[in-house]
Amino acid sequence: MKITKIFTFDSSHMLDGHDGKCQNLHGHTYKLEITVSDGLIQGGAKDGMVMDFTDLKAIVKQQIIDPFDHAFIYDGSNERESRIAALLEEWNMKTLRLQRRTTAENMTVEIYGRLQNAGINVCSVKLWETPTSCAEYEGENE
Ligand SMILES: [Zn+2]
Repeated sequence: MKITKIFTFDSSHMLDGHDGKCQNLHGHTYKLEITVSDGLIQGGAKDGMVMDFTDLKAIVKQQIIDPFDHAFIYDGSNERESRIAALLEEWNMKTLRLQRRTTAENMTVEIYGRLQNAGINVCSVKLWETPTSCAEYEGENE
């Protein structure tokens, strides 16, 4: 059985070295779909649930929304993006360092890993960068 909960967050990023407009610093209102897969809980307060939506919301808020929302998300291995982040941090502005280029594809992998580490049985992470463009990650076999 699978359940899905949808979230949104606003972030800025850039893709340094991109051969188009994404090389520029810009922002998205990201839509995030988290799908959890598990058997149904038998008995107790959560009887008949894969996972309580309220619990899922709390974990996603803590692990993803809080660090990502209104942050400059950047590739810590990229010098130019790191220099911009250092300036923002100097001004006490919010940044989030990732270990990879901040494409929608890479961000799904990052989000999947964070939720897995938080103990969620993540089935898939789908991240919409615009209303018509999304990436989906379903684990290491992808
Ligand atoms: Zn973008």
